Amino acid sequence: MASFQQFLSTWPAGRRAAVAAGSAAEDVLTVLGKDTLRPEDFLALLSPAATPYLENMAKRAHELTLRRFGRTVQLFTPLYLSNICTNRCRYCGFSVKNKQRRRHLSVLEASAEARIIAATGLRHILLLTGDARKVSPPEYIADIARAIKPYFASIGVEVYAMNEEEYTLLVLAGIDSMTMFQETYSEELYAWLHPAGPKSDYAFRLAAPERAAKAGLISLGIGALLGLEIFEQDAFATGLHAWWLQKNFPGVEISVSVPRICPHEGDFDVPHPVDDIHFAQYVTALRCFLPRAGITCSTRESAFMRDHLVPLGVTRVSAGVSTAVGGRSTQDNGSQGQFEISDRRSAAEMTAALSNLGYQAVVKDWEAMTEVCPL
Ligand code: SF4
Repeated sequence: MASFQQFLSTWPAGRRAAVAAGSAAEDVLTVLGKDTLRPEDFLALLSPAATPYLENMAKRAHELTLRRFGRTVQLFTPLYLSNICTNRCRYCGFSVKNKQRRRHLSVLEASAEARIIAATGLRHILLLTGDARKVSPPEYIADIARAIKPYFASIGVEVYAMNEEEYTLLVLAGIDSMTMFQETYSEELYAWLHPAGPKSDYAFRLAAPERAAKAGLISLGIGALLGLEIFEQDAFATGLHAWWLQKNFPGVEISVSVPRICPHEGDFDVPHPVDDIHFAQYVTALRCFLPRAGITCSTRESAFMRDHLVPLGVTRVSAGVSTAVGGRSTQDNGSQGQFEISDRRSAAEMTAALSNLGYQAVVKDWEAMTEVCPL
């Protein structure tokens, strides 16, 4: 099987730019009438020609979302295990360059945090660490997964890229999903953004979801950090990646996260900020191109934005979030978060807000979509 990197090379930046620039209004309307979209069609929906048709795209995206997911939205929450990191990502507050207090949870401390989360009714948890294999090796993550497994229906990880054997270790510990942000699909820009540390290996990171699927993880999330690269370039590459994963790993659930870069510690100027119009265009275009894919929206976005994106395609949202290590069990631990949270709603508040919108908050998604948050 050819890798995604090989497939992506058939869509170089120049080709993407030419197709986007060559898309016209009639192409956009034709695409919106199709049942199945090709990559070229997705690019037309991301192009400047599609922006005036956002309302048509929203209508189509809403229909497709209702057909596939009904009025349900899955809730999850992240648990930050460690902010010790050896990388120098220019856009991240956890970069080794930034002088902030570091904290690393023991298995016991992580279990205490997890029990606080479980008490809110949430049953999907996402474990996160910085990239520091010596202090947070795969075995440490597996130990925590085993310790907290009794409290959760699903345990996911958003950690450094691993090899296939390491992903197998996670599967055996009860972890079922992984999220891997490529940040940007531009190899040149990626090299500049990640000047040092293990994350500077673009190809190893890009192939991580493939290795995870081969190791037996049943749910994969991917995403680019919007704002780093020209909008259509990374938006298209992300959708193309999800589409390719769906085709090559049909038994694996694929979802796309849509983070926009937000303020953090440091002095990074966002090169290509994505405004709300283009953000909505991205979510609706993704839904039209990938009707089966989950779309995840984090608390980087405001409550207003998240509430408005649910009918347009978002199917997973985080709630009760703390991006500080040990942020739930300790009021003042001196550990800063990775990014600023815009939507601070608890699991109960998120459930109520979704209910007001006519949606059910689902805390366990694989028992006939029936278990609804009891809060
Ligand atoms: S983005 Fe991740 S790998 Fe990069 S500095 Fe931040 S925590 Fe470390």
